[in-house]
Amino acid sequence: MMDQPIIEELASRYPSFYLYEETELVQRAGGLKSAFPEAELLYSVKCNPFPPVLDTVFRQGFGADAASVGEVQAAVKQGLDASRIFYSAPGKSKEEMASVFPLCNMVADSLYEIGLMEQIAAEKGIALNAGLRINPDFSIGPGSGMPSKFGVDETEALRFMAEMKGHPVRINGIHVHLKSQLKDEALLLSYYRSVLELAEKAEKQLGYPLDYVNLGSGIGTAYGPGKEEFDIDLLGQSAAELFRNFRETHPGTRILIESGRYVASSCGTYVTRVMDRKVSRGKTYLILHDTLNGFIRPSLERMISHYTDAVNPAGTEPLFSGKRVFDYTTPAKGPEETVTLVGRLCTAADVIAEDILLPEMHPGDLLMISHAGAYARVLSPMQFSSMTAPAQVFLKKDGSLTLE
Ligand SMILES: *Cc1c(COP(=O)(O)O)cnc(C)c1O
Repeated sequence: MMDQPIIEELASRYPSFYLYEETELVQRAGGLKSAFPEAELLYSVKCNPFPPVLDTVFRQGFGADAASVGEVQAAVKQGLDASRIFYSAPGKSKEEMASVFPLCNMVADSLYEIGLMEQIAAEKGIALNAGLRINPDFSIGPGSGMPSKFGVDETEALRFMAEMKGHPVRINGIHVHLKSQLKDEALLLSYYRSVLELAEKAEKQLGYPLDYVNLGSGIGTAYGPGKEEFDIDLLGQSAAELFRNFRETHPGTRILIESGRYVASSCGTYVTRVMDRKVSRGKTYLILHDTLNGFIRPSLERMISHYTDAVNPAGTEPLFSGKRVFDYTTPAKGPEETVTLVGRLCTAADVIAEDILLPEMHPGDLLMISHAGAYARVLSPMQFSSMTAPAQVFLKKDGSLTLE
């Protein structure tokens, strides 16, 4: 539970805000790091690029999984050197790649992008290294490969690699990322095994060892019914043997694992306040300062839950991860009552939760929402209705605050 006086203090300054806690962030990042001593970890910047968050995670030894030029620059600004930044995203322009190529490892998402990199190499009169994102012939779990907008289909990628001799762009790594929010150790382990096997196939085609194999993410966090935490140490223990075996035959190949949500989700709390309270035909509404516009995922969760009777509707990451991901709490002390949490936008869609039990709340009371450290503020349509964006605050271990 968050430090109450700090929340009250910040609430006197900001109508709505995100509070991220260093203690929790360090614990999560450190836990992941110690679970995978044989791998290097990359933080997926897109889930929360708030500079103090980046600084904290990078200090734990993470590199950066960057999905845009802006994210590469954010990582550079935090002092990461090129070897620890990996830029991988579909649809990169030649200009974007040219602007950051000395600052990071570039991962091509298509053969067209390799062609653009060839042009850059020719114009600058240099040779370039590039990773290649591959859409493999396997899935995580049952079934084989699927069509995807990400990467190059495995067969095509391997065929291309076989013909790369003398090419100005040298493939030096592979990247695979298929799913998010898995909490099944056996599934993830067999996925890792498949990606490492794919790396061996790639090396055979290329005729030289890869500099890195990026296994992507997939590691789930405690979202959803029961919110049981994924046992990261168990996965780490079984992966260690796999990674050690791979390392024996590939001593120079770095093994990379990416993670966003596992690291950052639980460190964040969203805080907003009750502006009005209404009873309409027997139903009690609490009107909050910023709902959909401040933190969209609770509204999406409620909307999707409305459209389906399924107990566990499939996730659409990172917008929707399942029902009952978030906890709603308040420092208000009244008797419990059934309320519906709504916002101030001119749309009936800004409902956060319907008919939930909370202590009786009145204008001025605060509402806190959990799991607001990843895919929270970054996904929210904060410009809607010309509302003011929620503030961001970082609470350091020593109790001091870093404001935006
Ligand atoms: C978003 C993303 C991640 C992070 O996923 P999490 O589920 O937050 O760990 C990792 N890799 C790639 C390529 C991504 O797009």
